[in-house]
Amino acid sequence: MHKLFGLLTLLVSTLLITGCSDPVTEKPAAATNGEPARTYEWKMVTTWPKNFPGLGTSANELAEAIEAMSGGRLKIKVYGAGELVGPFESFDAVSRGTAEMGHSGAYYWKGKVEAAQFFSSVPFGLTAQEMNGWLYFGGGLELWRELYAPFGIIPFPAGNTGTQMGGWFNKEINSVADIKGLKIRMPGLGGEVLTRAGATTINLPGGEIFTALQSGAIDATEWVGPYNDLAFGLHKAARYYYYPGWHEPGSTIELLVNRDAYNALPADLQEIITQAATQANLRMLAEFTARNSAALATLINEHGVELRAFPPAVLEELQQHSQAVFQELVDRDPASAKVFESFSKYRQQVMEWHAISEQAIMATRPIPNSAD
Ligand code: CA
Repeated sequence: MHKLFGLLTLLVSTLLITGCSDPVTEKPAAATNGEPARTYEWKMVTTWPKNFPGLGTSANELAEAIEAMSGGRLKIKVYGAGELVGPFESFDAVSRGTAEMGHSGAYYWKGKVEAAQFFSSVPFGLTAQEMNGWLYFGGGLELWRELYAPFGIIPFPAGNTGTQMGGWFNKEINSVADIKGLKIRMPGLGGEVLTRAGATTINLPGGEIFTALQSGAIDATEWVGPYNDLAFGLHKAARYYYYPGWHEPGSTIELLVNRDAYNALPADLQEIITQAATQANLRMLAEFTARNSAALATLINEHGVELRAFPPAVLEELQQHSQAVFQELVDRDPASAKVFESFSKYRQQVMEWHAISEQAIMATRPIPNSAD
C-alpha cells in the first residue's frame, strides 16, 4: 500500500512539474512586463546569387542564428541578388527601408559614398585579421558608422574572405604593359589602379562574371578566391590564375541594418544582431580559409589550372599607382581623407607588429617541394 501511494505521489508530482516547466505551449519565448513578446519579420537583401557558397550561405546562416538566438522573435527572410532588388541595390533598399537588412561589400557603394571603399578592402591594405583589429579596436567601426549615418544605415562587419586571388587571365602578365588594353572586371579602388595601368575596368555582379569572360565581353576578371571562383567555373573560361590579390588583401563583408528598424527593437534583439554579426565574421573567415585551400588543390590537380605569380616589378608599379589613386581620393573627398588618416596610421603600426609576428612566422614555413 505504502509502495503504491509512493508511486502515485511520484506520478502526480511528475505531472505537476512537467506542467509547470512547459511554458512554451502557453507563453511566448520571452515576455516583458507580463506582455507577450512581439515578433519581428524582416527581409535581408544580398549582392550574391541565392545560396552562393560562402557568401550567400553565410547570409543564410546569419539569419538563422538570429532567429534561433531570439527564440523566433526576429525572423529574417534572405533574398538572393535580383529576387527583391538588383545585386547593387542593397544599400538603397536598406536605406529606404524596403529591406531591414543587407549583406554586401562596402566598395560597391563608391558611387554614393567614396570612403566606403576602405571598409571592404583597398589595394595593398589590410589582411582579414588586421581589418578586424582596425574595425573593432582601432576606431574603424566608429568611422564606418559615421559614414553611413546620413543614409540611415548601421553597418556591422559580418564576414571576411581572407586574401583574395589576383584574377583570371588568358595571357601571361610579365609586365604592366601586358595589362594595357585589357578589359578587366575589378571593383573598388583596385579597378581605378588598373585603369591607371592602362586597362579598361568595369564592375559586374558576381553572377554575371562567367558569361562575360566566356563570351569575351571581358578579357580578364577577379572574383574572390579558389572556393568561390571554382563555384562559378571561372577556370573554364581562363587559363592562368594569378596571385596575390594585391587589390583585396582581406575583404570585409558587411551587414547593413536600417537604423529606424534597429532602434525599434528591444535591447536584447539589438544585442543578438551585434553578436550574430561578430560570430558570422569569424565563421566566414574560417570557412574561406579551409575551403580555399581545398579548392585550390582541386583547381590545380583536377582542372589543370596554371598558377602564376605577378612579377615583383608589376606589383611595385601597381603599388605606385595605388598611392596616386589614394592621394587623388583624399584630395577630392574630405570623408575619405578622414578615414584614410585613421586607416593608414593603423596600417603602419600593424605592419610593424606583423613584420615580426605573422610575417616572420610565415617566412619560417616554406612549402616543401612536392618532388622532395
Ligand atoms: Ca574580389
